[in-house]
Amino acid sequence: MASEKEAALAAAPSDSPTIFDKIINKEIPANIVFEDDKVLAFRDIAPQAPTHIVLIPKVKDGLTGISKAEEQHFEILGRLLYTAKLIAKQEGLEDGFRLVINDGPKGCQSVYHLHVHLLGGRQMNWPPG
Ligand code: AMP
Repeated sequence: MASEKEAALAAAPSDSPTIFDKIINKEIPANIVFEDDKVLAFRDIAPQAPTHIVLIPKVKDGLTGISKAEEQHFEILGRLLYTAKLIAKQEGLEDGFRLVINDGPKGCQSVYHLHVHLLGGRQMNWPPG
């Protein structure tokens, strides 16, 4: 199986539908931990920590990544972060957690539908590798 870095380098930035659209449309299964009308959150299929959840906007609206954000996205961006905090509490991550947004090939982004990683359940290190 390709490493995260190889997967990211192989993924060309594009506005085409991604695997996350299939999860939104319930065409493929996902372990969903939170859903409302704007945000969907599910457990990452290749967890990098005991808790590893991916939060996505249900409507991409051009947000292939955070580098495509415009003023029209203020509400959904704030909602994603606030929802991450709610899920961290739901997951019992009182001692801390990490939120990550990868962007573009050098940021190791592999899926071009904006998403926030919520990682927790172990000690994080800084700086990241
Ligand atoms: P990124 O590398 O930041 O673009 O993150 C994409 C994440 O989506 C990776 O951590 C993958 O493991 C995760 N992922 C890809 N496909 C699925 C899937 N079907 N279900 C859950 N997570 C997935």
